[in-house]
Amino acid sequence: MMRKKKIPIRKCVGCGQSKAKKELIRVVKNQQEQIFLDITGKANGRGVYICNNVDCLNKAKKSKAINRSFKCDVPNEVFDKLEMEIEDNG
Ligand SMILES: [Zn+2]
Repeated sequence: MMRKKKIPIRKCVGCGQSKAKKELIRVVKNQQEQIFLDITGKANGRGVYICNNVDCLNKAKKSKAINRSFKCDVPNEVFDKLEMEIEDNG
């Protein structure tokens, strides 16, 4: 029998593709209604995931997918930080 490691899969809010969780950037809204990038992937709260990819970020911005997931407005600085994070890694 083959031993397969279970890889957590999450869906990108930009392109809608399902990918390995560790390939995606997590954005979290916590109980204090703060929205921030969760680099560790371990912060408590509701999370959305996005590819490490400017295209996906732009799509998510345009479609307001993160706003809809969190049911609130996402501050521009969150998008700025995402942009920085994506550029750093790219
Ligand atoms: Zn994507």
